[in-house]
Amino acid sequence: MWRDLAPMGRNPESGGYRRFAWTGADADCRSWFQAQAESRGLAYELDRNGNQWAWLGDPAAGDAVVTGSHLDSVPDGGAFDGPLGVVSSFAALDELRARGARPSRPLAIVNFGDEEGARFGLACVGSRLTAGQLTAEKAHALRDAEGISLARAMERAGYDPEAIGPDPERLARIGAFVELHVEQGRALAETPHAVGVASAIWPHGRWRFDFHGEANHAGTTRIEDRRDPMLTYANTVLAARKKARLAGALATFGKVSVEPNGVNAIASLVRGWLDSRAADEETLAEVVGEIERAAVERGERDGVGVRVTRESFTPVVEFAHGLRDELAKLLGGVPVLPTGAGHDAGILSGTVPTAMLFVRNPTGVSHSPAETAAEDDCVAGVAALADVLEGLACR
Ligand SMILES: [Zn+2]
Repeated sequence: MWRDLAPMGRNPESGGYRRFAWTGADADCRSWFQAQAESRGLAYELDRNGNQWAWLGDPAAGDAVVTGSHLDSVPDGGAFDGPLGVVSSFAALDELRARGARPSRPLAIVNFGDEEGARFGLACVGSRLTAGQLTAEKAHALRDAEGISLARAMERAGYDPEAIGPDPERLARIGAFVELHVEQGRALAETPHAVGVASAIWPHGRWRFDFHGEANHAGTTRIEDRRDPMLTYANTVLAARKKARLAGALATFGKVSVEPNGVNAIASLVRGWLDSRAADEETLAEVVGEIERAAVERGERDGVGVRVTRESFTPVVEFAHGLRDELAKLLGGVPVLPTGAGHDAGILSGTVPTAMLFVRNPTGVSHSPAETAAEDDCVAGVAALADVLEGLACR
């Protein structure tokens, strides 16, 4: 399975993946999923929001145990983020059958569409729509960098954009959802364990910082006459790092735009986007507040106006405690750890009991071609997922 997926959407120059929603690479991955389902005699289903399902047993029976993840990627993403969960799901099902396990509950494998949001800028579109956390109107209006709307992109890929929307009947069939994912950090790397169970997803958000200064000539404007927003921005980046470090939180300026963006001109406007995350919402609010204060104070010294706009916010996700504890018990006391990354499992957790398994990532690197996991650890992940499915569905 891994070999089949490997060439799909791979950028030969970087070695990373570009499996963006509703593109040719996405279609290849989807065909692969359907073929895997059909080759195992599973009932294949495509839902109204473009998520793919493979069923063992009768979906209408309810209380299903569902596993799976996503197959799309960030720009130049790694091979494991998403696909490891989907491949492991099929492999775990094979393992269950090899063990002769007889499920008493329906089992399903899911591939959620457009999890990374790489093309249209919003993550987890497939699961958000299904859970009713994104309206069809808002989804239709999303546009990619070329100005192509999500609705148009779906249409071009042969899907009906008018059909999208909440799907409570589908969610009502699910008794438990377990997503296996490569760890996006090094917590497990510090332990002798290949697999861990997720406790929570940190609250996180995005804030846009606008630094308004004055464009002027780089060669003739005296230092004391300048109102240089780049200076304020640079100091804010340093402040963000320091405040986050002191609070045990995370703060990143990873995207910036500059006007007029000329090499011999002092900028008139610098716009920087802050991504910040912390273990709890109070700490997150404090850290972002401190970064904003630092920006405003520095702006006063630089003659630069600062405006901060919150563009998105996702509250803390606590995975279902009962299910989490059951998984940890089934797996014999593996580590239970939080993560700073968002997942479809986080979106679904508001509606259905949800849990996650993490597979050790030796470097912690993710969203990069360097993302990796040892083959033995991946195999241990499959065995753990099979134990979990057997424990939940075969009693
Ligand atoms: Zn992922």
